[in-house]
Amino acid sequence: MKLFRHYLSVFSCTCASALLLFAGDGHAQTVAFTFDDGPQLEQTPKLSPQQRNQAMLDALARHGVCAALFVTAANGANQPAGYALAKAWSDAGHAIGNHSMTHPDLHSEKVSLAQYQQEILDCDKIITTLPGYQKWYRYTYLREGNTPEKRDGMRSFLKQHDYRNAYVSLDTSDWRLNEKLTAVLKKNPQADVSPIKRAYLAHVRQRAEAYRALSWQLQGRDIAQVMLMHHNLINALWLDDVIQQFRDMGWSFITPTAALNDPVYQLMPERAAAGQSLLLSMAKTLGLGKFAGWERLVDDGDFEIEALKQQGL
Ligand SMILES: [Zn+2]
Repeated sequence: MKLFRHYLSVFSCTCASALLLFAGDGHAQTVAFTFDDGPQLEQTPKLSPQQRNQAMLDALARHGVCAALFVTAANGANQPAGYALAKAWSDAGHAIGNHSMTHPDLHSEKVSLAQYQQEILDCDKIITTLPGYQKWYRYTYLREGNTPEKRDGMRSFLKQHDYRNAYVSLDTSDWRLNEKLTAVLKKNPQADVSPIKRAYLAHVRQRAEAYRALSWQLQGRDIAQVMLMHHNLINALWLDDVIQQFRDMGWSFITPTAALNDPVYQLMPERAAAGQSLLLSMAKTLGLGKFAGWERLVDDGDFEIEALKQQGL
């Protein structure tokens, strides 16, 4: 029964690229979408948690994009209402990955390696029942350990449990612009938020182009990009536009499974850069330091937030 349901779920996703095994052949830039911290049951302006979840799924379905949801179970999936939202992703053919139980920070002195690992096992118990379940772990805050003991302890833990590190190559600060969006709408539900939409799209485009350039610098080719976003209001409202923008840029979509088959994701950089993309970790390991354009990749969206302030937002 489980196998049959899995079969159904794979083919209920309408993405034409679902059968591609690996498309990072250097001829076209590809990207896979991944959404962290979901499903999120918190209240926001405009849309209920169910509406936000459905809006993201509808946008993906309209464009035939198969994505991955990385579950932080205490945000909702540990209760029936939130589990149903995660199941909707799974039923639509999206992959389900692990993003811990309560989103602890591996770099915090208060969080032991054992506690951090237990969080992964606790989340695993909840998501393992979903057909789209994959043994993929997405590090919280993209932090892989601030000491060699934590870093290596996690690497061997993942191996032992047959999990892989679900790296991010194309990191965005959607969460930062989402904070701005919700703050503006909480203050005034009728506010004109179109400048935030434009800033968000420009932010995604800038990061995409910069990480593409970095992939050429480090790998001499277009790697299959794995992009990080979050399960939040900004994507519920404007994911359609984000997808369309990538299409207009000439990029094509692949599944997270296909993207992670790119051999670049087998690498384990010696110097994992905290909170950052695999490409930045590679640059750091190679001693490239602060290359041209580096600031905009690590500014948490400061550039866009500052520009919005100038516009009175
Ligand atoms: Zn997260």
